Amino acid sequence: MSRRRGIPFVVAAPSGTGKTTVCRALVDADPELVHSVSHTTRAPRQGEIDGVHYHFVSEKAFRGLEEQDVFLEWAEYGGNLYGTSSRELDASLARGVDVLLEIEVQGAAQIRARRDDARLIFLLPPSWEELERRLRTRGTDADEVVERRLTIARREILAVREFDYAVVNDDLEETLSAVHGVLDAERRGDTADARTRYGREAALERLGPGFDNLR
Ligand code: 5GP
Repeated sequence: MSRRRGIPFVVAAPSGTGKTTVCRALVDADPELVHSVSHTTRAPRQGEIDGVHYHFVSEKAFRGLEEQDVFLEWAEYGGNLYGTSSRELDASLARGVDVLLEIEVQGAAQIRARRDDARLIFLLPPSWEELERRLRTRGTDADEVVERRLTIARREILAVREFDYAVVNDDLEETLSAVHGVLDAERRGDTADARTRYGREAALERLGPGFDNLR
């Protein structure tokens, strides 16, 4: 019998939506789901391990890989380059495991255009006020840095229109249960109910008029 091929699940969100916490909890709870290891030119943060959290490479090396068409998608974010290797992704999928790609929204749009097998999940903040509060309490960023992030978030959030699923990240447990619901439905191949429950319309209904431009 041929082995089931894994599914690439892309999770994207505007900065400040809590994507990293959600993705970490998803992978921790699910032995059939692995985190895709991206290449980046960013310097490692404390505790980050090369080959585990990222493949840390120089800009020259990254550009070389890009020229060799190694990346399924890549993007610049905050002055650094980030990319997903097609070969690494396909190797995991061929082993039958599902892969979680935690990436920013430009990269997600490239995957949407290139891979029919990918399923895209967008995380939304519960409100603009809450997103601003999260961006402000994140660190010691100056007001103009927070303003710039909010401007970027307002642009990034428009990408929700291209996604298969949208989940409002208000309460972590609820978010995890919703994303598990999506993963289960996609694995079973029976998605009609999940597409209604966790579709964009349902999320926008919950968010109210402040997000009407996303319909
Ligand atoms: P950080 O530097 O905080 O780890 O990541 C910055 C942003 O880059 C986050 O939104 C993260 O999800 C995104 N990112 C990480 N890896 C990739 C990748 O391979 N491709 C793209 N497009 N974005 C990525």
